[in-house]
Amino acid sequence: MNKTKIDWCDCTVNPVVGCPNGCEYCYARKLNKRFKWIPDWDKPQFFPERLKSFYEHTPKSIFIDSMSDIGTWRQEWLEQVLDAIIANPQHKYIALTKRPDLLSKKLMKILSENRRKGFVYNGNLFFGISITTQAQADSVRDKVDFYSIEPILEPIVLPWDSFPKAIIIGAETGNRKGKVIPQKTWIDDLVRQADEHGSAVFMKESLRQLMGDDFRQDKLPWDIER
Ligand code: SF4
Repeated sequence: MNKTKIDWCDCTVNPVVGCPNGCEYCYARKLNKRFKWIPDWDKPQFFPERLKSFYEHTPKSIFIDSMSDIGTWRQEWLEQVLDAIIANPQHKYIALTKRPDLLSKKLMKILSENRRKGFVYNGNLFFGISITTQAQADSVRDKVDFYSIEPILEPIVLPWDSFPKAIIIGAETGNRKGKVIPQKTWIDDLVRQADEHGSAVFMKESLRQLMGDDFRQDKLPWDIER
């Protein structure tokens, strides 16, 4: 397990590295360019040996795709990772996707094949959708546990009928040309939407200065009592 600077989980385990989604602001792609984990970022690779760390006993909240997008994983990779998750209910697992359309098809296939008895969606595996623009918010069709609105690139109205239990909000970091600096009113409005649904709000450190006294980090659905 890798310690992480991500402030909403205990650690990361990345059984898959690489992602074909092509986001301009992709930090992971930059890291891969520097450390050369895989030859081509657009062609993800599977590292099944990393699943061994799920077998550690101390309960952790583990982000399982900080260096990929679970929606773009191959079916057989997803099946192997779910096997390891089922075998290790002591942890909370968190996965984030920009391709919920692809992910739900793959999960449906697994469930309909009836090979995963005991796998409890919404049990110890939490799915989130990554949203950065209004167009992405408008295209959400799936009900998930949380939205990660990072980096927020414009004011966003979230889908009202399928509002999740939590939203995570963050500003773009780094020095990319064209970097978007959010306005406080964009964040205030997201907080208002979440409050109207009784959902948790977790702001990343990148928003601390902008939000001042309104900075907020509520408890997330996967937070482990210690
Ligand atoms: S979805 Fe994530 S990992 Fe994939 S290209 Fe976009 S920012 Fe990078």
